[in-house]
Amino acid sequence: MYDIIIIGAGPAGISAALYTLRANLNTLIIGKDGGALQQTDKIENYFGTGGVISGKELLEKGRIQAEALGAVFAKEEVVSIEWMENFTVTTQSNRYEAKAVIIATGNKRSTAKIKGIDTLEGKGVSYCAVCDAFFYRGKNVGILGSGEYALHEAMALKGVVNSITVFTDGKEITADFPEDISIVTSPVEEIQGEEKVSGVKTKDGNIYPLDGVFVALGTAGAGELARKLGLPIENNRISVNEDKSTMIPGIFAAGDCIGGVLQIATAVGEGAEAALSAIKYLKTSTSK
Ligand SMILES: Cc1cc2nc3c(=O)[nH]c(=O)nc-3n(C[C@H](O)[C@H](O)[C@H](O)COP(=O)(O)OP(=O)(O)OC[C@H]3O[C@@H](n4cnc5c(N)ncnc54)[C@H](O)[C@@H]3O)c2cc1C
Repeated sequence: MYDIIIIGAGPAGISAALYTLRANLNTLIIGKDGGALQQTDKIENYFGTGGVISGKELLEKGRIQAEALGAVFAKEEVVSIEWMENFTVTTQSNRYEAKAVIIATGNKRSTAKIKGIDTLEGKGVSYCAVCDAFFYRGKNVGILGSGEYALHEAMALKGVVNSITVFTDGKEITADFPEDISIVTSPVEEIQGEEKVSGVKTKDGNIYPLDGVFVALGTAGAGELARKLGLPIENNRISVNEDKSTMIPGIFAAGDCIGGVLQIATAVGEGAEAALSAIKYLKTSTSK
């Protein structure tokens, strides 16, 4: 059991870790890659770099600084967070428990623009297989996705629903789906339905009658993780209080995933704020 898990190894996540580690909290940082910063060749507007620095170099320096304080990094993809007494963070290969979580997953830029996703949300379009599988027992469902995240959703549905069809929306399959799950690789044109989902239409003209569709495209971003926890989101950004706490005690969020000006300087500042709030939360919740 960790005191705190930080999801995201970008400037917000690593900055948060510097504070939690210095407060002597047992901290795990999970990041699947270098996030937005990794794509940045030249940074000229961040304090203390002496001029120009690349995103990769800045990240590496942050990581070394955190490791020197005892940080444990896991290069894994988070597919789910659950909340019981403590928090369980599930990746493609592990399950970790913690007393508090900071979400610092950045801004997922590629959201699906498939007709019907937004209008049918809550009417057969779901973002949480663990939460909603029961409503689809014995029914036929689809999953939008092609990787580990989609596989995780499929495994939560398997054995509960009658059939599962995975729609890759033109992407290559990157996870090992069981053989009894049908795979459709044609791009998706539309999720159909009026009052509720009735099926999926692909661009090759086929229509697949379905009772529900679970969205698990790419990697689980802040929006998807927040939806699984029932946290409010606005424009796919997690809504936070001034101190970076959320509606759920013990869950905090920082950086591009909460919106704002989307800069390194703000991500670092918000990471620090989220960490200080988490430290305060852990001190008060364990002293009760
Ligand atoms: C091309 C480009 C150039 C930019 N130039 C500048 C600049 O010059 N100056 C500036 O201030 N800002 C710049 N920015 C913006 C800056 O990079 C971001 O504001 C900053 O990186 C946000 O930090 P973050 O920690 O919130 O998110 P990110 O840096 O995006 O980090 C997110 C972390 O979350 C991880 N993650 C996400 N989902 C999951 C999951 N499901 N499981 C596990 N890990 C996950 C990622 O792997 C990553 O480690 C630029 C951005 C881009 C894309």
